[in-house]
Amino acid sequence: MYDGQPVPGRNDLCWCGSGKKYKKCHMRRDQRLEELASRGEEVLPRRLFKTAADIAGIKRSAEVNIGVLDYVGKRIVAGVSTEQIDQWIHDYTIEHDAVPADLNYEGYPKSVCTSINDVVCHGIPSPDIVLADGDIVNVDCSTIKGGYFSDSSRMFCIGDVSTERRRLVDVTKKSVEAGLAAVRPWGHLGDVAHAVQTQAEQAGFSVVRDF
Ligand SMILES: [Zn+2]
Repeated sequence: MYDGQPVPGRNDLCWCGSGKKYKKCHMRRDQRLEELASRGEEVLPRRLFKTAADIAGIKRSAEVNIGVLDYVGKRIVAGVSTEQIDQWIHDYTIEHDAVPADLNYEGYPKSVCTSINDVVCHGIPSPDIVLADGDIVNVDCSTIKGGYFSDSSRMFCIGDVSTERRRLVDVTKKSVEAGLAAVRPWGHLGDVAHAVQTQAEQAGFSVVRDF
């Protein structure tokens, strides 16, 4: 097949480990993928498909990933340093039997990225960076639990934020939501990007092309 891996016979067991016959399991999907690949579409190799157990594992990881951002949201105020946010994320994640994926990734010294105002992303937490009234801050956090990764980031508005900054945050959120609404079976990743960009540009913004 397109991914170089063998194809079972119709009545053989499916390659996915479900225990079902191939014709009752992945056969039709594989045929469609093969056809797409033959037309020059980029399709995932089958080894990257997620089983039901994989998806359950990803959800358990995402529970911690969302939980830690909720935890930050209840505490984040003017006067808090980004180092403090890093500590919250580190401790909460470890206490929930998970690991901050950022920590030690290619030597990265912290558990999260904290990017304030005109810093687009990848800001590094520091005791010297203290949140002030009017700041907008992105907290970008990845979590590993049971071998499964999850990753999300959230914007927080600190105190009294200017109309311009508030609008940036609101338009960005709407753009992400438009992208999520464009996710569908047999769709393209490019459909998601297109939806995000269209939403942002309609509001008079543009998308960041670096990173
Ligand atoms: Zn299968």
